[in-house]
Amino acid sequence: MLDKRYPAEPFRIKSVEPVTMINREQREEVVKKAGYNTFLIDSKDVYIDLLTDSGTNAMSDRQWAGIMVGDEAYAGSRNFYHLQETVQELFGFKHIVPTHQGRGAENILSHIAIKPGQYVPGNMYFTTTRYHQEANGGIFKDIIIDDAHDSIKYHPFKGNIDLNKLQALIDEKGPEGIAYVCLAVTVNLAGGQPVSIENMKAVRALCNKHGIRVFYDATRCVENAYFIKEREEGYADKSIKDIVHEMFSYADGCTMSGKKDCLTNIGGFLCMNDDDLFLEAKELVVVYEGMPSYGGMAGRDMEAMAIGLKESIQEEYIEHRIKQVRYLGDRLLEAGVPIVEPIGGHAVFLDARRFCPHLTQEELPAQALAARIYLESGVRTMERGIVSAGRDKNTGKNHAPKLELVRLTIPRRVYTYAHMDIVAESIIDLYKNKESIRGLRFIYEPKMLRFFTARFEEI
Ligand SMILES: *Cc1c(COP(=O)(O)O)cnc(C)c1O
Repeated sequence: MLDKRYPAEPFRIKSVEPVTMINREQREEVVKKAGYNTFLIDSKDVYIDLLTDSGTNAMSDRQWAGIMVGDEAYAGSRNFYHLQETVQELFGFKHIVPTHQGRGAENILSHIAIKPGQYVPGNMYFTTTRYHQEANGGIFKDIIIDDAHDSIKYHPFKGNIDLNKLQALIDEKGPEGIAYVCLAVTVNLAGGQPVSIENMKAVRALCNKHGIRVFYDATRCVENAYFIKEREEGYADKSIKDIVHEMFSYADGCTMSGKKDCLTNIGGFLCMNDDDLFLEAKELVVVYEGMPSYGGMAGRDMEAMAIGLKESIQEEYIEHRIKQVRYLGDRLLEAGVPIVEPIGGHAVFLDARRFCPHLTQEELPAQALAARIYLESGVRTMERGIVSAGRDKNTGKNHAPKLELVRLTIPRRVYTYAHMDIVAESIIDLYKNKESIRGLRFIYEPKMLRFFTARFEEI
């Protein structure tokens, strides 16, 4: 690892967790038993786990030390004040409501900020986010730029909102027909693609003109900040901390999953500046989560999160994070494996349409590819395509997203470049033999968020 493009790990290893690989025969049994759904495979049967970057972070020695100073008081825990102070300083919002994880914050925000029948435009959807919006009577509307739906086209900020689409929705429904704009940084389902400061500013200006609120899905905001530093004019010499702060200065609040950029394993929070909205959020948090000073988190978890947030904005950390993901993507690209470009912040996405051109979308190519990667290598990945997109609530028909992807999500501070090499080499081998990948069909299909527990068989 002497290539300067890919900095070595900015940490040394103090504690290890052994992993082992079961043999191919055993993996064949495992994948059949799991109904070809990688979510249903047991962790013990996985060699390298790239299912998600959610809650899979490795904590630092300081965070573990923080665990020991957890104040588990039912009310007014000192760790809450540490977390509140940290979030206020980094994000700049007035109020914070802790929740058990990101979707807890989404549930509360959707309850208090959406009136039934109102639209919630967003830069692509996220599964739980859209679920809560729709469950509260909201209508999701995708207003991301068209380029985001193209897996090959280069755009430095593929997560940007298309201002013309937003303007058209305002013209059609009126400002009162819009609950708020939901702006995700980065955009998970587009491949971890960032949003530029310029776009955030423009969205803010347009929404100000019409009195519409803007809430960010802040889940991977630090990764987004790194791309701004790398790609946006005028930001190369700014600190990640300042960029994060500026990003949130264009929002009225945010929902945050603690399981990603906060470098912890559980938790989340909701932020806002508005005092009245905060009061409503506090009334709901006691119903769904817990006291406003813990909201579903243990004191020790809030402490680890406060420390993790401070570590996440360290320059060496975030540079290595983004570049380790890029390393895996670059290796696949060099071998001609079709992936989403440019390479995003938290994951490399295989383009299953181009990987498996012999399968139709109804044959669930991304699901089939994810199952096959596990069988070949013990590497666990996840489908992000027609299965994840679910069915239209009204027509009952499958949403057919343009992007049919398999996500190789890299946990933070967990794996080394050597692990990335193993992953790259097994996928390159499979690509040479891609015609042998068979399509799948549902044998069990849950009504909601079906991808988590659905079962399949080979066609
Ligand atoms: C993970 C995630 C969420 C939901 O957060 P949880 O902590 O898993 O509930 C919301 N938005 C995005 C973009 C995410 O990746």
